[in-house]
Amino acid sequence: CGLFAIFGHERAAELTYYGLHALQHRGQQGAGIVTSNGKQLSIHKGVGLVRSVFEQQHLSSLKGTSAIGHVRYAAEQDSGFENVQPLLFRSQISSMALAHNGEIVNAFALRSQLEAQGSILQTTSDTEIIAHLIKRGGYLPLEEAIKQALVMVKGAYAFVLLTEEQLYIALDPYGLRPLSIGKIDDAYVVASETCAFDLVGAKYVREVHPGELLIIDKHGLKSTMFASPMQRALCSMEYVYFSRPDSNLNGLNVHASRKLMGKQLAKEAGVEADIVTGVPDSSISAAIGYAEESGIPYELGLIKNRYIGRTFIEPSQSSREEGVKMKLSSVRGIVNGKRVVMIDDSIVRGTTSMRIVRLLKEAGATEVHVRIASPPIKHPCFYGVDTTVKEDLIAAQYSIDEMAKEIGADSLAFLSVEGLEKSLVHEDSNEVGICKACFTGRYPTEIYPKEIYVSEK
Ligand code: 5GP
Ligand code: SF4
Ligand code: MG
Repeated sequence: CGLFAIFGHERAAELTYYGLHALQHRGQQGAGIVTSNGKQLSIHKGVGLVRSVFEQQHLSSLKGTSAIGHVRYAAEQDSGFENVQPLLFRSQISSMALAHNGEIVNAFALRSQLEAQGSILQTTSDTEIIAHLIKRGGYLPLEEAIKQALVMVKGAYAFVLLTEEQLYIALDPYGLRPLSIGKIDDAYVVASETCAFDLVGAKYVREVHPGELLIIDKHGLKSTMFASPMQRALCSMEYVYFSRPDSNLNGLNVHASRKLMGKQLAKEAGVEADIVTGVPDSSISAAIGYAEESGIPYELGLIKNRYIGRTFIEPSQSSREEGVKMKLSSVRGIVNGKRVVMIDDSIVRGTTSMRIVRLLKEAGATEVHVRIASPPIKHPCFYGVDTTVKEDLIAAQYSIDEMAKEIGADSLAFLSVEGLEKSLVHEDSNEVGICKACFTGRYPTEIYPKEIYVSEK
């Protein structure tokens, strides 16, 4: 999912709308904005892309100088309207709207506890759990109620919460999800990725720190901690696949990181070939890096149809397979008679690679060597990326040789975990601090029993 928030700007709704456009790649199943004019909150949201959810009349009805917005990436079961964020809770004293990116690993336990105590939950969304936990703080000052709630919540979460007069921002103690602060004139903005700042003309200020709760109101910005920060574990898949190449995450540019991954991959798994080609869009940076390091020319062997969404995000396996077919074509004039190194950013189920190897061979490639710019994904993610079922992960089921056969490649190699780590260091050679759990099985947070977790999903 993608988050955007702004406080203290006349064009709050409009800028949030632009911000959500910049974050559209983070979720395409729903979008919503809540604004405040200091006295009351207004909301508009819907299922689908930002451009289809919002029309001019909606933006005009979203009055006020502060706003939060969300684009939603949903699992199959939860893609209905009731789960589209922000969620708005009205009350006599103060209303609040919440939007969240990530996944709570003890959601099942918290939900059971809330239900046992009489809460009636209307959605299957983790955001509602956070809202109920906050509301249980009764008449405590909101800051205290939020802190009490967050102590009970385990997992990955970046969230924004808007009341009539204040904006609250929080990031989980490991900083699993990205979240940055910027400024536009005197107004504060917050976004999942810095590409949203560039679009609205905001200047980057800093990252939200792990375990930090920020309160922004007419007095300015106040920073407090609700938990001691842990060693940062920012999702490495954000760098590998999810984020936009023009974003900087925790101070590191995504395109530059991908290029380094591609170079490292060329060092670790070189092969004789005539051309290097990348799977558009997310693998182009790594393919450029691979070509640069290996000296094999980069070529446009594959073309993407711009009007089809990200395949992975489409809910069911069958629509995913058709999605791949509609999305990519090979360029016969380029690949015919050539030995091709095909770079992709990652393999999850293996559907994409299998299809692309076939496309390249149908177009006359004599050999196709598949090189993956991340390590094999062998373990499920519990932090909000749609691979919670181990049986779906091809690398959890097969050896690399078996996988190569399965996808029809002449050879197959992955970036090593060490190679990934080496690619994600700051200029001062300090590590960025990444989560690698889907590659290593070592999860930064506690993980709750999978049987319970899966039955909940
Ligand atoms: P597969 O086809 O192996 O199941 O998925 C891997 C392909 O899906 C890659 O080409 C990658 O760019 C794309 N992809 C789309 N969404 C995701 C995601 O959330 N995680 C990962 N790892 N890859 C994704
Ligand atoms: Fe990201 Fe993988 Fe960690 Fe999930 S397990 S947060 S996908 S690095
Ligand atoms: Mg891809």
